[in-house]
Amino acid sequence: MGLATLTGRGRKRLLGGHPWIYADDVHVAEAEPGELSSVRAPDGAPLGWALYSSKSRIALRLVSRSKEAPDEAHWHARARAAVAHRRALGLLGPRDACRLVGGDADGFPGLVVDRYADALVLQSGCQGSDRFRDLWLGAVEEALELPIAHVLDRSDSATRAHEELEKRVEWLRGERTEPLEVHEPERAGVPALVYEVSLTEGHKTGHYLDQRENRAHAAGFGRDGRVLDAFSYDGLFGIRAALAGARDVLCMDQSQDALERALRNAERNGVAGKLRVARANAMHDLRDRAAAGERYELVVVDPPAFARSRREVEGALRGYRELNRRALELVAEGGVLVSASCSHNIGRGEFLDALAGASLDAGREARIFRYAGAAPDHPVLTTLPESEYLKCAFVRL
Ligand code: SAH
Repeated sequence: MGLATLTGRGRKRLLGGHPWIYADDVHVAEAEPGELSSVRAPDGAPLGWALYSSKSRIALRLVSRSKEAPDEAHWHARARAAVAHRRALGLLGPRDACRLVGGDADGFPGLVVDRYADALVLQSGCQGSDRFRDLWLGAVEEALELPIAHVLDRSDSATRAHEELEKRVEWLRGERTEPLEVHEPERAGVPALVYEVSLTEGHKTGHYLDQRENRAHAAGFGRDGRVLDAFSYDGLFGIRAALAGARDVLCMDQSQDALERALRNAERNGVAGKLRVARANAMHDLRDRAAAGERYELVVVDPPAFARSRREVEGALRGYRELNRRALELVAEGGVLVSASCSHNIGRGEFLDALAGASLDAGREARIFRYAGAAPDHPVLTTLPESEYLKCAFVRL
């Protein structure tokens, strides 16, 4: 096991609740990459246990504040708690999908595990989660108690570079390159839904699970009307709206694969007759449609992250303002805009400021009546505000 002694500032930060210690706040570390390490105050007093990273700015990720080192039983208990939370949310149906493990918030720094029917897809983002991958995965699967035929390690995110880790895509069990079907059961009045996921080709781990609840909340605002689902990916905002009674749905994305998936998903859910797709750069296409006088009762804009680092924030905020201006122009009088941002580096306040700017630019008075984050299988640790990333505003014109 490793040993890391903090500076006075590092100790203060840790005692203040934050689970990450930056390299500047570590006085000395004697640990292997990813090793479980005892964390000490400058006077040697034990503060807890963390996973060490030899390369990242985040040198230590705390996993326990107790005196005893976390053992196998610790990881099994964390895995059971993570699974129990999803079970309590009703997300463990036989062919359902959800995020089983969401990194630090579930006690597994750097690890994401998503379940799609009988498949698990994991992503490891730091040296610690690489080192503990097999132990952690075993604990999660044991807690899950569901038959799993396919396990894919899709650690191909660009952020691995911060830890000097190579990208890796590796089948750990039951290779499956053809898409599989997820069946969301009816839940609390939200109708059942079927969609396909390509584990290897899809974005992230295959699908955007974090928008599940926002799609359900948005759906009814398009009833009897026209819906524009911009940045639609596999079309589930639009398909949910069609299922809730929208007359006509247009899904827009720049990815041909995503749109083909959206069309197949519409077919599966019996709404193919109402759904059209447009392959376009949404930034330009929204402007052109607004200029042509198109109007929709419900507009959804859910773009990829505009700010991938702190440096990009200013430009990104201009981007959100401009995008939302175009989106607002497309909303019919009395209609609704659902606007999301998944940029980690942009806070709720900044995002809402961009929306305010957009409404000024568009000359449309807009009121936010619901503000939400990611679905509840993507929890945010109270002491780690960095783990909150998705912002989704529901705006009435
Ligand atoms: N709304 C989706 C998730 C969208 S993710 C859901 O609920 O699951 C963002 C999507 O934007 C991706 O599918 C990506 O292909 C698409 N995209 C990125 N840049 C784009 C652009 N300039 N124009 C249109 N689509 C774009």
